[in-house]
Amino acid sequence: MSDLLKIVDNAPGSCGPCQSASCGTCASPPVKRETPALLSRRELGRTVLGASAVALIAGCSQPKPAEQAVAPPPAAPALSPDLEVVKESKGPIMTTLEEFYKIGPGPSSSHTMGPMRITYDFFQRISKLPEDQLKRATALQVHLFGSLSATGKGHGTDRASLAGLLGKAPATCPPEFLDGLAANPDETHKVTLGPTTLDLTLKDVIFDATKGNFPHPNTMTPKLLAGSETLYELEYYSVGGGFIEWKGYKPPDKGQPKYAFQQARDLQKYLVDDKIPLPQLLLENEMAISGKSEKEIWEFLDQVAEVMVRGVDTGLNADSILPGPIKLHSKAAAMQRSLKTSAKGEAARAVTRVASYGFAMGEENARGHIIVTAPTAGSAGIIPAVVKSLRDLNTPQQKVRDGFLAAAAIGYLCKHNATLSGAEGGCQAEVGVGSSMGAAMIAQAMGAPPKVVSNAAESALEHHLGMTCDPVAGYVQIPCIERCAYGAVKAWTGYCIASAEVPDERRVDLDTTIAAMALTAKEMNSKYKETSEGGLAVSVVLC
Ligand code: SF4
Repeated sequence: MSDLLKIVDNAPGSCGPCQSASCGTCASPPVKRETPALLSRRELGRTVLGASAVALIAGCSQPKPAEQAVAPPPAAPALSPDLEVVKESKGPIMTTLEEFYKIGPGPSSSHTMGPMRITYDFFQRISKLPEDQLKRATALQVHLFGSLSATGKGHGTDRASLAGLLGKAPATCPPEFLDGLAANPDETHKVTLGPTTLDLTLKDVIFDATKGNFPHPNTMTPKLLAGSETLYELEYYSVGGGFIEWKGYKPPDKGQPKYAFQQARDLQKYLVDDKIPLPQLLLENEMAISGKSEKEIWEFLDQVAEVMVRGVDTGLNADSILPGPIKLHSKAAAMQRSLKTSAKGEAARAVTRVASYGFAMGEENARGHIIVTAPTAGSAGIIPAVVKSLRDLNTPQQKVRDGFLAAAAIGYLCKHNATLSGAEGGCQAEVGVGSSMGAAMIAQAMGAPPKVVSNAAESALEHHLGMTCDPVAGYVQIPCIERCAYGAVKAWTGYCIASAEVPDERRVDLDTTIAAMALTAKEMNSKYKETSEGGLAVSVVLC
């Protein structure tokens, strides 16, 4: 991304893509990149009044101190060349579907999904140990370190870790099981390893040292014990986005893509030159890189679709206060009920239905139930809402699979040329990309030509540019859940616009908008990058 940002950085002083030098677009002075000055009195007054109004609305007598609102914001840090998103921006896109659509428990891909994938991996490893070793086993434990230990309780790291140790696969673990672990923390559970059955409780997940010289802030070590002797242990790292590594980890060997691409325009060239449909190109690349058969790829995408639709259905039938200090009441069920009872008119009914699906999966994520990263846990409600609404239209299964491929291609492009992380790029990188993927998915599933697929994705992404990440109290609830609903509705809007306009008349292309997102991410103040130091996170007063 750094090369791309250099190109974009130079843009203000040069003529734009129209090259007319007289359109006026490029004549404006370059944007000054200075730390903003202290707020003017009028701005200060507005800020204080705003904070007071929020406090009044919330029924609280202690508004946020004004000084907190007027402190000059820190400059956004430059992206480190050590970041994977920077390193991976070299060469062709090599991401695979299984790396991208990761299945596991919410609400955090690094603090819940990663740990459950880790302990399930450990369970599978120790299940294969020789019988004489397993016969001696007396206990199974996992030690959490660093950030996992410091913030794991709030994220449900302990129950996710225990579920994996008990042999529950992240993709298929029923939500009731995870709820049961949280509701009955003292309950004893049995796990069978060959000839041995062990008792486990949440106490076997040990919140260990929070500070230390760990290889990664999210380090954890599961152990199989025989009394005080360690029979088998392995140090793992939850490296973000649900990805896991372990001591001595070597990334899996990958094949070379048949159609190497880095940008949307590369894809477009293949589609024209080779006269190959977009889903076919993406399928052939996936087979070449992952080594999987076509059948295996469809089976995986079908499983992803089932997890998503099951999550939406579960969320639509759940009516509860979501976990955490916000005490946020879920809305999906109420929105569904409103469809039955009120005369909303065609437009309101359509929007309510799609939005309720987005709420349903976003709320499931907040409950710590099983979700699919698409592209992240916080934005996990958007693609399920699209899939569910495509099913409402009786869209054939193969069309939905093709839609998943197109959506993944958009996600890959954004990951490769910008970022998918709220901590790096704000919410435009999560919900914005999710909405863009959704628009591409709908267009592809509807059989639209590739240019329309690309335009739909561009349209949806364009109208999320600059969206900040400011989760209230650090919980993936406000604004995240409602944003998933908006993201799904905007995905449909992007498709509706792109399928109605003349495709070649669209003035902004997808690569340009992804570049704009990368630039916006770079210049965004760090307060708005998942730090809970700005925006809603400091404006909403919790009593
Ligand atoms: S506000 Fe932040 S945490 Fe919430 S969905 Fe957006 S990027 Fe993710």
